[in-house]
Amino acid sequence: MEHRNIAFIGAGNMAQAIIAGLVQGGYPAHKITVSSPSAVRREPLEKEFGIHSTNDNIDAVQKADVIVLAVKPQMMEEVCKPLQNIDMSKKLVLTIAAGIPATRYNDYFATQLQLVRIMPNTPALVGKGLSGMFAHNSLSSQDKQFADELMKSVGTTVWVEQESAINDIIAVAGSAPAYFFLFMESMQQEAERLGFSPEVARAIVQQAASGSTALAEKQHMLPFSTLREQVTSKGGTTAAALMQFYEGKLPENVASAMQAAIKRAQEME
Ligand code: NAD
Repeated sequence: MEHRNIAFIGAGNMAQAIIAGLVQGGYPAHKITVSSPSAVRREPLEKEFGIHSTNDNIDAVQKADVIVLAVKPQMMEEVCKPLQNIDMSKKLVLTIAAGIPATRYNDYFATQLQLVRIMPNTPALVGKGLSGMFAHNSLSSQDKQFADELMKSVGTTVWVEQESAINDIIAVAGSAPAYFFLFMESMQQEAERLGFSPEVARAIVQQAASGSTALAEKQHMLPFSTLREQVTSKGGTTAAALMQFYEGKLPENVASAMQAAIKRAQEME
């Protein structure tokens, strides 16, 4: 990966995860700056990773080749407007904020930016994220590659051709951890009702979930339907359980839940 000067604006959970991924992957710490008004957030990052930290967004952006906007969406306009006098013509801007269309940043900065809109999900916090990536065609292939490699430090990336597909990524990946957690929560509740202690119930469900995903990863050539069939003997216990899911229209419910997430993402833009 090319070593450019990177400034993170915002020192929250996502910024921290990406910084950790970069430094642990060998990116030179002295090429990374984090800027946040909160000393409590930025100073531990400076100590832990040996990066620079500041509370001066303007100075951080001026000195950087790449700016990662990692503040809450509702803060974005207020954070970007004071940066309007900076020459952005040779800088790459990456934004991980949800719900803000790419072209709106041109208004915030009052100039045409080289920008990548990124939609990571929370497993990025443990290096297993999935980031949806979108850039306009005018972005250079070097900038695209840099953004791609940066987000690969916390997981995998999927580039979308149309910006609207970022909302589809939200439905398939961004919100997905909560779908799986709801399923795990429901299983834990029933395990407890059966008499397992909360700790044991949680441990069983967690192991069943991570074991299943590990199996799916190992046998990635097989469709999920085949993996499901492999644990479902005709007339057996799993078949009896799955019958209940089908009667409750689980596949249709999953589809309409994902459509609801897309609709909400569109409303929030
Ligand atoms: P967070 O609340 O943990 O961090 C936000 C940070 O912004 C804080 O450190 C705060 O100090 C800093 N900040 C506030 N005002 C600032 C200013 N004027 N200048 C510089 N920094 C300032 O948030 P997070 O969870 O890391 O999320 C950051 C962004 O990532 C959001 O836009 C969110 O939509 C996006 N995102 C997060 C996730 C996630 O799973 N956490 C997933 C996808 C996208």
